[in-house]
This record gives sequence, C-alpha cells and structure tokens, in this order.
Amino acid sequence: MNVRKNSEIIINLNEIHPDGEPFQFNRKSGELNKILHNIIGDGDYNIEFTITPVGDVFELKGHFFADKPLICSRCAFDFQSQLKEDFHEILVVSEELPRKGHLSRPNHSSEGFLHDGPFFNELRSPHFSISNFAHEIMALAEPLNPLGKENCDENCENYLKALKEGWLKKEEALSPSRNAFSILEQLKSDSIKNT
Ligand SMILES: [Zn+2]
Repeated sequence: MNVRKNSEIIINLNEIHPDGEPFQFNRKSGELNKILHNIIGDGDYNIEFTITPVGDVFELKGHFFADKPLICSRCAFDFQSQLKEDFHEILVVSEELPRKGHLSRPNHSSEGFLHDGPFFNELRSPHFSISNFAHEIMALAEPLNPLGKENCDENCENYLKALKEGWLKKEEALSPSRNAFSILEQLKSDSIKNT
C-alpha cells in the first residue's frame, strides 16, 4: 500500500494476493479522514471491502457507513443522518481505454451494465486509488433532497418554527398551491370579513 503526501492511498492491483485481500478504514485508523472531510466532516465512519482477482479483472465487494450532518430540504432543520451502502464493483484494467473511460461510473441507480449486478469500473492502470473510490462512493450515497423526518410537511414543527423566526419564508420553501399555511391565513381573513 502506497500513501502519498496528499493522503491519497494507491494500491497496485497486480500485487493483490490471489485469494483476495481485505481492507478496512475508519475514523480511528484515520487514513481517509482527510479526504472524506468535505463529505462527512468529523462524522464517524467505517468502510471495509475485499479485492479479489477473478481472471483478468478484480472483484471489489464491501460496505460502509458514515455519519453525516444533513439539513432537511424542506424545513432546514439540522439532523444527523447515516449514509450506508453495500457495494459490488468489477475493476477492469485496460490501458487502451479512451480517456473518458477512466473510472467511469454509470448513473448509480439506472444505467448499470447489469440491473442489479456489479458496477464496472474501468481503470487505465493497475494503480487503484482506494481513497478516491471511498470518496466517490460516499458522495454518491448522499440523498439529493434529504428530509429530517419521514413526511416532513407544512405542519412540521421545525418548518413552522423557522417561518415564525423568519429565517425561512414560506414562498421559498413551498409552492403556493401546496402551502397549507397560506390557505389557513386565507380562511382566517375570510372568517374575519364575515363576522
Ligand atoms: Zn423537515
């Protein structure tokens, strides 16, 4: 294993033991703390996997978890979430691949070569960056529109509190048609008119 100055960890796949080799990194072992910092900050994490030569390719299989602070996309509430994923990749080393083939990863959920099978990772050399791989797989696991709780909606106490304290405006967070709050206000003003 080769650790560069900028904390990148590179292994030579051609030196992997024929029976496969296990790898494990976490907050305590520390090797990936720096490179993962922009994704998970100081959150706890553990990533472990094995790399096994299979014919001309390498099978990489494992899982990770990572604690990450997130912000609810609706009510802007800060919450702690755990990213968690199993992964199964086939590393194909081909020095003749065009440049765009380098570490190309199809759209995570929809465009894999095989629907539920492993992802194919094309490498231009047997020098595989474990740190870049870990960074990529954790970045991909981040939800696009995180919710602090299931069904966070217009009645969410955090959302209502944020409105009340003025650091969220309802127009920004919700479209008018879905804004129960404005309907409530409308009802209120109608009932005032009618009295
Ligand atoms: Zn929320």
